[in-house]
Amino acid sequence: MEFKLDPDIELVRRVSREFARNHFDEKIARIVDEKEEFPWEIYKLVAEQRLLRPSIPEEYGGGGFNMLAESIVHEEFTRVDSTLGQAVLSGAFGSKLIYLYGTERQKRKYLKRVLNGDSVMYAAFTEPGHGSDITKLDTRAVKKGDRWIINGVKTFITNAPIAEFGIVLCQMDGDDKPYRHQIMFIVDNDQQGVKINPLKGKMGQRGSPIGEVILENVELNEENILGRPGRGFYQALNFFSYGRVRAASNALGMALNALDKALEYATEREQFGTKIIDFQAISHKIAVMTQLIEASRLLTYRAAWALDEENLDNRVKSIYAAIAKRFSTEAAWKVVDMALQIFGGYGYMKDFNIERIMRDLRVLRIYEGTSEILNEVILHGLKNKYYEL
Ligand SMILES: Cc1cc2nc3c(=O)[nH]c(=O)nc-3n(C[C@H](O)[C@H](O)[C@H](O)COP(=O)(O)OP(=O)(O)OC[C@H]3O[C@@H](n4cnc5c(N)ncnc54)[C@H](O)[C@@H]3O)c2cc1C
Repeated sequence: MEFKLDPDIELVRRVSREFARNHFDEKIARIVDEKEEFPWEIYKLVAEQRLLRPSIPEEYGGGGFNMLAESIVHEEFTRVDSTLGQAVLSGAFGSKLIYLYGTERQKRKYLKRVLNGDSVMYAAFTEPGHGSDITKLDTRAVKKGDRWIINGVKTFITNAPIAEFGIVLCQMDGDDKPYRHQIMFIVDNDQQGVKINPLKGKMGQRGSPIGEVILENVELNEENILGRPGRGFYQALNFFSYGRVRAASNALGMALNALDKALEYATEREQFGTKIIDFQAISHKIAVMTQLIEASRLLTYRAAWALDEENLDNRVKSIYAAIAKRFSTEAAWKVVDMALQIFGGYGYMKDFNIERIMRDLRVLRIYEGTSEILNEVILHGLKNKYYEL
């Protein structure tokens, strides 16, 4: 076992760090945060650099590397700016699903458009009545001749208000367990019967617009099906592992940003004639923050590495991803809270951006599987013995 990254992955780290430092302007981040605007210009530049999805092959507009590289881009971007880093990389949310399950035609038509920076996309699982539990859905897909008719509502869908298209998970009829009868479709937003209702007023991640996707008698054909009918739920579960590693990496980056800021502040700020870093109560916080970050990093890289391993069971990959996401997001919350404490009253104000990191970070413990659900995923693996310590 070697604890060092390959030179090409180190290069991805250097390139993404430099890119973020050169293009992520704090003033722009604040405007994006205040106005809830997607940073299109930066998104297009990220796409030009092939940094949107390093794990997807270059022929489809990806970076041609792997998930470890993708994880590191997320870490570096959110380390420089939590709002801009999260927003631009979420622009391609769902692209991995098209890569994993799409036909060649779908990959050329949809994947390239997103990864070239011409469009963003969405992946819609959540419904008003089904959040953590998507084993049964209210959005119905009914086959009529060679057409499919879709009806339902998806909510909290990232990018829906600004996307050209997205992926929608639907329920079909079936006589046994409902999750064995789910199907995914690629839906164009300009299709008749599709209505998007933007949802404003998020606490954080405000550069990433969300909305409801309302589907009323939307007529689709076989070409819109993504993957295999009946396998939609399993395709979603597999995709969640990738999203969870990205979320873990975002949390890691935000924690690093908070630590960088806290360390700098603590070595400058004086009280009682002493630099506050020389108070053990403060320096020990920094030591604990460092440990939480190191542990998050190891778990996140391990989970990213696992996703690239062809011979590893998908269920084991999902456990590694759940552990990384649960640990990294909860640890980052503690790290950012300690950073805010080190800043004292100044941390509570907007000026030092700690409060923005905190707001951007909070939802990472909710979406892509809440912390409670991830514990359930880990326990399921232990109980069923496909994961052992
Ligand atoms: C900013 C934002 C962006 C989002 N983007 C997307 C997106 O792009 N696509 C998409 O499909 N969804 C998206 N979501 C939805 C997100 O995935 C859901 O909010 C999340 O899965 C939780 O579902 P819920 O909100 O309905 O909460 P619920 O499932 O109702 O859960 C409520 C509480 O109960 C707990 N709970 C539920 N079941 C259990 C259990 N078995 N054991 C213990 N505790 C349990 C949960 O952990 C939580 O604390 C987004 C949400 C937000 C806030």
